[in-house]
Parts: sequence; structure tokens; C-alpha cells
Amino acid sequence: MRKTLYLKFVLAYFIFGVFAFITVATFVPSMTREQLVREKAENLYSEAELIAENYASGLYTSETSLEEVKTQLDALAIYLDSVIRIINPSGRLVLDTETPINVEDVVVIENFDPTVTRGSYYTVDRFFDNYDTNVLSVFAPIASNFKVKGYVVIICDMAEIEASCNNLVNISYITLVILFLLSGIILIFFTEMVYMPLRKITYATEQYASGNMHYEFQVESEDEIGYLAACLNYMASEIARSEDDQKKFVANVSHDFRSPLTSIRGYLEAMLDGTIPPEMREKYLNIVLNETERLTKLTNSLLTLNNLNTRGMLLDKTDFDIHQVIRRIAATFEGSCRQKSISIEAILCGDKMYVHADMEKIQQVLYNLLDNAIKFSHHNSVIKIETSEKKNKVFVSVKDTGIGIPKEDLKLIWDRFYKSDLSRGKDKKGTGLGLSIVKEIINAHGEHINVISTEGEGSEFIFSLPQSDIDEEED
Ligand code: ADP
Repeated sequence: MRKTLYLKFVLAYFIFGVFAFITVATFVPSMTREQLVREKAENLYSEAELIAENYASGLYTSETSLEEVKTQLDALAIYLDSVIRIINPSGRLVLDTETPINVEDVVVIENFDPTVTRGSYYTVDRFFDNYDTNVLSVFAPIASNFKVKGYVVIICDMAEIEASCNNLVNISYITLVILFLLSGIILIFFTEMVYMPLRKITYATEQYASGNMHYEFQVESEDEIGYLAACLNYMASEIARSEDDQKKFVANVSHDFRSPLTSIRGYLEAMLDGTIPPEMREKYLNIVLNETERLTKLTNSLLTLNNLNTRGMLLDKTDFDIHQVIRRIAATFEGSCRQKSISIEAILCGDKMYVHADMEKIQQVLYNLLDNAIKFSHHNSVIKIETSEKKNKVFVSVKDTGIGIPKEDLKLIWDRFYKSDLSRGKDKKGTGLGLSIVKEIINAHGEHINVISTEGEGSEFIFSLPQSDIDEEED
């Protein structure tokens, strides 16, 4: 494809050159000759008319003698570089600047016919076979008493006109060659601005097609081709990034699956081969159970994330009371709160607060946030769930006074599988997927979630939801 595009352009360029040459060679010489002949004929005709009026008519009225007229016309013929003849309508030669006057010798031009000009006043021919080559002959009638007495004919050699014509045609050819060479600039522009960038783009697409998504190339232009190249570069870098993410994701998943499986296998083998005595089995079976719970949690989280992504997050939005959902979720954590003597305080703005969202997914958000808050809270502490309303938005905050999040981790906690070093001791079952699920759900609702946290003091997660149009009173 690459070669043919360039060849096509070069071919088109030369075809253009050939056609331009053929056109010039066909039309320019004939048009130039015609124009030159017409101009020359016009000039000679004015002279012939003058001669007819001033000298020749006198001949027929016997006002002037033949010798006198001949002397005048001889001088004029030299000046005009032509032959001047006065011819009677019958063809009899009255006067000829080429031959001396000889009254006895009557010369008649065979087949003389002044209408040969066919409506014009000049002809280009061999002048009734008087010449071997073509000559330009101009006819001006000599009139007296409204009768044509004869004709002044000025005959001019075509050689001079042909020479001028050839000169002009040569100038046309030279101009054509210069124009052809100059239009080669278009070819250079095409090569530099279209062909070379296209080659780069084609090579880059070949690289991408063969899987080398990290290939980078540059097209230094700000036109459509530059834009296309920039888009292609961006597309490749995005694909490369998502490929890298995918690899990282698979590596993380494999790692998170392998460690509980290894410990389960270790304990089970130890039980089977007797390393763990039967009276200790219950303790280790509980550990194994914990690990299977962790695996179940991990699998569920992965499935949730996968569903969120593949379905482009289809939300089943309804109007529901967020306060009721908060109370319900808080109640499910009663057991784990009691274990750590943690109390959950709900500071809710009003009895009911209707939001328009996917209830099931918002439950999951609250569940994940509360789960984290409890996990990372110290014993005997309070977790506050607060709601507020502003500009048709409902803000939900989950605040704890636990270990907090180091400043450098704040941006990373939303990434899949991210667990801060600080949290590892506190939370052995964590998958690092909870917050990425939360963020995906909130973003799918077109809303935002933020975190405010100080290491050692606690964290607050605040997210927004659209308030429903339903009036509280209506319910
Ligand atoms: P996990 O399922 O392991 O809790 P998350 O995605 O929910 O994963 O959280 C990612 C990390 O963010 C946690 O490992 C922890 O380091 C940090 N984190 C989340 N919530 C809190 C919190 N309330 N207090 C302190 N750290 C938190």
C-alpha cells in the first residue's frame, strides 16, 4: 500500500506533465501562428488601403503616371519587406514592385480571383501558384465611381511570421518546463507532509498489530495527520496501560489466592501426618476455616468487580430511604462491634431521607466502609455515621477514630489490591478490593467519594448521592 500511494502520486505528476506538453504542442503553435498572421494582415491591409486610395486610384483616373506610382510603391515595398502588386479584376498585372515596368509585356495572373479571401481580406496560400511556398497576401480594392477597378495586393513572405511563431512557441515550452519543475514542489510537500508521516503511522500500526503496544513515534505536525498520529499514540499507550493493569491484576489475584491455599494445605498435611496432635486439631481447623472465609470473600469481591466492569455498571435505580439502609447495615455489625466494644452513632438529618440510587449497591458501599471502620478502629471507640443535605445532594459520612491512613497512601487506597503496611497487622483477611468496589459504584452513579484521614487519629469517608424528588411527607 505504502509504495503504490507514492508511485501513484509520482505517476499522476508525470501524466500531468505529459498532458500539459501535448496540450501546449497541439494548440499553442496554431493559435500563435493565426494570431501573428492576423496582426500582420491587419497592418498590411491598412497600408494596402492607403495605397489604393492615395496612389492606385490615380492610375485609373490617369491623374498619376505608372512610373510615379511604381517609384512610391518600390520604396514602400522595401520598407514593408513585401511585394506590392496592382492587379485588374481580370487578373492582369498592372504594376509589380518585383519587376520593372514593361508596357508591351502583358502579364496575366492565371485564375486570379479576389473572392479567394472568402469574406476576409487576406489569404495564406501559394497565391494562385505564383510561389513555391505559402505567402500572406492582403487584398484591398481600388474603387472609383462605386466600381472596383482593381486590387492592391501586398504579398509577404511567411518565413518571418514562422520565425516569430517558433520563438513564441519556444517561450511557451520553456514556461511549461519551468512550471512543471516548480510543481515538483507539490511532490516534495506531499512526500514530507503526507507520505513520510503516513509511513511512520503505518509502521506504528504494524508494531501495535504485532503486540508491541509500547512503541512510540512522533509526527511533528499540527494538521489532521499530526492529530491522527497523536490519537494513535494515545490509544496504544492506553491499551498498553490496561494490559499492564491486567497483568498486575492477575498477579495480585494469584498471590492472594496462593497464600491462603498454601496455609490450608500446610495445616491439613500437618494434621494428616500427625505433626498436629488430634487435641490441637480444632484450633487449626478454625484457622483453616478462617482462610476459606478469606478465599470466599476474595472470590465474591472479584465477582462483584467483574460484574461492575463488564455490565458497564447497569444500575437499578429506585427511590429509597438512605436512613433506613444505614440503620439496617449498622445493625448487621452489632456482633463485631460488641467484640471490640465499639459503638456506632448515627447522626441523621431527619427521620427519612430519600435518595435516587441503586439500593443494593449503596448497601454494599456502606457495608464496605463500615467494615473498614470497625477493622481499623481501636477498642472502646465510637464510629459516627452522619448524613447531611445540600443542593439536592445527600452527603453520607462514615467516620472512625482508628489507625488512620498515612498521607502517601491516601491516593493508593482506591487501587485494586492495595493494603497499606499499617493495616496488614490489623486486618489479615482484607483483600484490598473493598474501596475500589466502593469507588466504582459511586462513580457509576455520577457521584463522588472523598477521604479525610490523619495517621493515628482516624479516617472519614464522605460520599454523595442524588436526593430523590419524592417528598418525605408523601411517604
Ligand atoms: P480491604 O478489603 O483490605 O479492607 P479496602 O480496599 O477496603 O481493602 O482498603 C484498602 C486499604 O485502605 C486498607 O488495607 C487500609 O490500609 C486502608 N483503609 C481503608 N479504610 C480504612 C480506615 N477506615 N482506616 C484506616 N485505613 C483504611
